[in-house]
Amino acid sequence: MNETAKHKLTISVAAGKGGTGKTLVATSLAVALQHRNGGGVQLLDCDVEEPNADLLLQPRLEHQEDVHILVPEVDLDVCTRCGTCARACEFSAIAVIRQAVLTFPELCAGCGVCSYACPVKAITEVERHVGVVDAGETEEGIAFVGGRVDVGEQRSGPVTKAVKQHIADDLITIIDAPPGTSCPMQETIEDTDYCVLVTEPTPFGLSDLGAAVETCRALEVPCGVIINRDGVGDAGVDQYCAEEELPVLLRIPQQRKIAEAYSRGDTLTRAFAEWVEPLCNVFEQIAAGQEV
Ligand code: SF4
Ligand code: SF4
Repeated sequence: MNETAKHKLTISVAAGKGGTGKTLVATSLAVALQHRNGGGVQLLDCDVEEPNADLLLQPRLEHQEDVHILVPEVDLDVCTRCGTCARACEFSAIAVIRQAVLTFPELCAGCGVCSYACPVKAITEVERHVGVVDAGETEEGIAFVGGRVDVGEQRSGPVTKAVKQHIADDLITIIDAPPGTSCPMQETIEDTDYCVLVTEPTPFGLSDLGAAVETCRALEVPCGVIINRDGVGDAGVDQYCAEEELPVLLRIPQQRKIAEAYSRGDTLTRAFAEWVEPLCNVFEQIAAGQEV
């Protein structure tokens, strides 16, 4: 891979469950690359239901944009109560019960299918606020973009999408993905060049890792593993990685000083300069295609 192509890599960092050190890895990787390259890195926080990359990176936020989706509004004077819209909606976000047409905006995906399907054009689409996207810069000059869904909002997809629209072609992009393997994680990692899966070497970690690997493979996103808190647990994760031919990109040992730095809100690379090189090596392994 040439240098130009490397500068366009988009790497998502995910984990089968929360609390495995995913955000620590994503932010530390971004700081390491920015430090080594002297610029050219952005970090996107797509964990929009519980964003916390900003707590570690402490960016100066300079810009905020609102995220809206279009939801249906029914003109009952025009509506014939035919029920076509309700049958067309795959999210059960609109229902026709006798003479009433009920909409459930919190379930609505804003797809517009109902208004398209309505035979008498009784539906107009109105904006609904679902979250915000903040943008700024860290003290190292990392371009930071983070999303946050409104309280009570059921769907994070539109905010995730709004964050991902900030992916810049000329920057290395590191994305902090939501935990788990459901839709928010899938919407985040799809179309990324590589997914780094952070896990712990325990039976629970192994179980969650297996689900995350299957998700990556279903989405055809190449993946590799970083083992956090290495030294606890057992050898199950290592055996699984060997059997599945998954590269172990890095091991972060179980160390009190690392846990203390994290609890202070420090990235690995800000707290310990010796972690810059190992994290840059993770990037080089990915760029070199050693993951395949
Ligand atoms: S816009 Fe889509 S999700 Fe929302 S009510 Fe209409 S069909 Fe359902
Ligand atoms: S499809 Fe249109 S006319 Fe039929 S129930 Fe829905 S809003 Fe009313």
